[in-house]
Amino acid sequence: MAKQTKQGRIIILSGPSGAGKTTLHDLLLKHPRFSRRIVRSISATTRAPRGQERHGREYLFLSQPVFTSRIKREHFLEWAKVFDNYYGTPRKNVQEVLKTGKSVLLCIDVQGGRLVKDKDPSAISIFVKTPSLEELKRRLKARGTDSKESMALRLKTAREELRQACYYDHVVINDSLDHAQQALEDILVSYGI
Ligand code: 5GP
Repeated sequence: MAKQTKQGRIIILSGPSGAGKTTLHDLLLKHPRFSRRIVRSISATTRAPRGQERHGREYLFLSQPVFTSRIKREHFLEWAKVFDNYYGTPRKNVQEVLKTGKSVLLCIDVQGGRLVKDKDPSAISIFVKTPSLEELKRRLKARGTDSKESMALRLKTAREELRQACYYDHVVINDSLDHAQQALEDILVSYGI
């Protein structure tokens, strides 16, 4: 009988900007256990690269016409408009990772998170949030990368995103990074990842 390859899972990580999902995402991918079992998906975006970001590493930076033509060709598993830019998960990469038996990590917004979960109910969806909106405000301020306007937009979006947390399989409260990291790892281990 042919050996059956274990199928990987899609792992969706969402949460308001400033809640720590990127930090948790990075820690997971450096972890000795999970780095062997999980591959990150590289999203496409129409936003401009920031700082040291490079095409093909953090994101695939695409022009608006190229992004639009890829939407038409059904290149994306999901796509959404976030903060005035388009973001999308290339379908092919996700399928290729899953075929190898590894899981694929999608760090995407709530619109995308819900779309992926609808298409693949076996996806594991995890929402990361701060203990309160006040705490999120404090962290965004401490980060110091946003103008007043951009901060107001992030907080407004955060309020909308928090309402979507109930559609996720798990909610991780990032009160301290150690706790949140442990909670995230426990969730994944409980799925055999
Ligand atoms: P940033 O521009 O700060 O890197 O990301 C802005 C937001 O877009 C974050 O919430 C991030 O999770 C989300 N995002 C990044 N890639 C994707 C994607 O492929 N699809 C969707 N729906 N959201 C994404």
